[in-house]
Amino acid sequence: MMPVGRLAPSPSGRLHLGNVRTFLWAWLSARAAGGRVLLRVEDLDASRTKPGAVERIVDDLRWLGFDWDGDIVVQSARRDFYRATFARLAGKIYPCRCGKSELAQSAPHEGDVEPCYPGTCRAGIGASTPVAWRLRVEPGEVSFVDRLYGPRACDVAKDVGDFVVARSPDQPSYQLAVAADDVDQGVTEVVRGDDLLPSAARQILVCRALGVEPPSYGHVPLVLGADGTRLAKRHGGTWLAGLRDAGAKPERIIGLLAESSGLGEGDATPACLLPRWSWAKLSRERLTLTPDRLRAFQ
Ligand code: GLU
Repeated sequence: MMPVGRLAPSPSGRLHLGNVRTFLWAWLSARAAGGRVLLRVEDLDASRTKPGAVERIVDDLRWLGFDWDGDIVVQSARRDFYRATFARLAGKIYPCRCGKSELAQSAPHEGDVEPCYPGTCRAGIGASTPVAWRLRVEPGEVSFVDRLYGPRACDVAKDVGDFVVARSPDQPSYQLAVAADDVDQGVTEVVRGDDLLPSAARQILVCRALGVEPPSYGHVPLVLGADGTRLAKRHGGTWLAGLRDAGAKPERIIGLLAESSGLGEGDATPACLLPRWSWAKLSRERLTLTPDRLRAFQ
């Protein structure tokens, strides 16, 4: 079976070099096996979505030499699908009135993984208004083989607990939306940043609750700023927009990201890296962008 991969940017700003390195791996993994690549815009968290960001991300991806198959799928246009998915979970989810922080609709990046829920509302909430819906999980182990990190096992009772799948029927959490979209779109391999590794077990549990086969997972070591933390706004020079405006060449950017991945040296386009691609070659090291390394991109 030909693989189907996906690029799943959140339009919360412009792309940074970490996003580009992740997309490069996702694209190469699917394309090198003759597979398809989908582009899905993850804009469910309206508070983080910036006007014009989708257009800029699409333009940056094309400029870098990426392509994809079919129309761009936008999550915010799929409320009917999420409502139907929510209905399929009847009997497996329960309403919860415990508040706030765990209701995130965007991906829980490093440091903000949902804490294990103590089960307060499991037995019912009476006439209270639910603020969220949780998946009722049973104790046990979820195991999977990560394409880069190998076999992983997660103790559901200890590491996951009943987690939030929706705020309301058409407001799915990140975990539900991503797992349901991946399966619905026929995605067979999820390749994304390694800060989302703890989300894989949750998404496998969502697939199980929906009675569908989960995709495979491969997590890409993050790119860090010079201070050793995950790339964010404060890491000025690591944004593609800045490099592009300063005259950087896409082949240099792709070439250096490929080199940091263990795929050989020299300027490159995604397509010209296809013959060199192999999961076995890839570096498990997170890449720290020291000022020297960053200068090489310009
Ligand atoms: N949209 C998420 C992000 O940009 C990625 C989610 C995923 O690949 O599962 O962080």
